[in-house]
Amino acid sequence: GGEFVEGRGTSFKTISPATEEVLAEVAEADAADVDAAVKAARRAYDKVWSRMPGRERAKYLYRIARIIQERGRELAVLESLDNGKPIKESRDVDVPTVAAHFFYYAGWADKLEYAGRGADPQPLGVAGQVIPWNFPLLMLAWKIAPALACGNTVVLKPAETTPLTALLFAEICQQADLPPGVVNIVTGAGATGQALVGHPDVDKVAFTGSTEVGKAIARAVAGTSKKVTLELGGKAANIVFDDAPIDQAVEGIVDGIFFNQGHVCCAGSRLLVQESISEELLDRLKRRMSTLRMGDPLDKNTDIGAINSGEQLKRIRELSDLGDAEGAERWEVACDLPTKGYWFPPTLFTGVSQAHRIAREEIFGPVLSVLTFRTPAEAVEKANNTPYGLSAGVWTDKGSRILSVAHQLRAGVVWANTFNKFDPTSPFGGFKESGYGREGGRHGLEAYLK
Ligand code: NAD
Ligand code: MN
Repeated sequence: GGEFVEGRGTSFKTISPATEEVLAEVAEADAADVDAAVKAARRAYDKVWSRMPGRERAKYLYRIARIIQERGRELAVLESLDNGKPIKESRDVDVPTVAAHFFYYAGWADKLEYAGRGADPQPLGVAGQVIPWNFPLLMLAWKIAPALACGNTVVLKPAETTPLTALLFAEICQQADLPPGVVNIVTGAGATGQALVGHPDVDKVAFTGSTEVGKAIARAVAGTSKKVTLELGGKAANIVFDDAPIDQAVEGIVDGIFFNQGHVCCAGSRLLVQESISEELLDRLKRRMSTLRMGDPLDKNTDIGAINSGEQLKRIRELSDLGDAEGAERWEVACDLPTKGYWFPPTLFTGVSQAHRIAREEIFGPVLSVLTFRTPAEAVEKANNTPYGLSAGVWTDKGSRILSVAHQLRAGVVWANTFNKFDPTSPFGGFKESGYGREGGRHGLEAYLK
């Protein structure tokens, strides 16, 4: 607790996906390392953190938030190096939202009696948290800030392709004089995650990642007293009606699917456009896509960075090739791809039917599947025709239509005339195979309180 220690297991390399250059060698925590981290978290929980008044815990959270702001540039550069996302996004979206999350939950730490969980809500204990590579620091914040505010201690495992900002965050915890053991970071891959969620002294499991691993975790904790929240995949519909402000809608579609190379669980990956405007909308969309700049994540003019890993690139290619094979029509931005690194051009498929796998499965890359509809009822039916239910978008000039369509959509978040807006005060989470539990806002406290 509180110190950087050598792992007992082997080590692995993390690379820059834009250059394939090795950035660092990182310890792969084995079961004994995970056990030591859980023990440190338990000690800190029993002796310090669960006993500390909320207003004192809040001071640490505020301090962490302030240091994140102060060291924002460093965090943004490291995030873009390790993940491949454009610096414009890590600097202007990820890091400020991370700081906002700590500020927000710092505010709750001494007001938990107003969380809607009774007059004297109690923390759960030690939380084991496993996060993905698409928003490494932001997912860390979503997990750690509410857990600490409520009086829990944590052991968090970042994804194997993006461990670096979590390690820098550990240094920030030291800088903030956070009591040792309150936050523990263990690096490693699936086996490390498995050891963490399966550890008998973990009271709460929080996971964000693939539906497949989410199901495996749900099976692993079934029959134990562990509380679980799962935030899994999505295949969101972005619905554009014929009265929508069309240029704004084009911006929202672009933001919905090309933000963070489409590595976004709530990405607007299915465009549902009303038939009468589909030709004009697609013309404008293609024109706009052609202006996107793909390349060096550290160049502040870059719009689209690198695909996070060779493995993810392979998955995106396979699913896109399936789109061709199933008869959809591919259009992609013409551009020269760098010879090193992992790249995939902004792509859209037209002529997509609901049966196509590119309309049903999460591609998790910069690939948009376009479907059309004629009536609002048909739009709603198609939008809901998915095993997922994380998010959706509605574009129309008519307020009453926004309300009626949003009401019928089975999705955790519905954006109206915007997309991919995140705020710490707003709860986020899924229906159906997109998972259960909410993160963010007052609702996010419920996952960490008895
Ligand atoms: P993943 O679910 O395998 O990995 C997510 C995290 O879980 C990582 O930290 C990983 O090390 C860990 N993990 C893996 N197996 C585990 C296990 N058995 N027990 C505990 N932890 C385990 O995701 P991936 O392989 O990186 O990506 C695969 C697909 O998942 C993507 O193509 C995408 O569709 C989806 N995905 C979704 C999100 C999301 O935010 N919802 C994030 C990443 C990936
Ligand atoms: Mn990396």
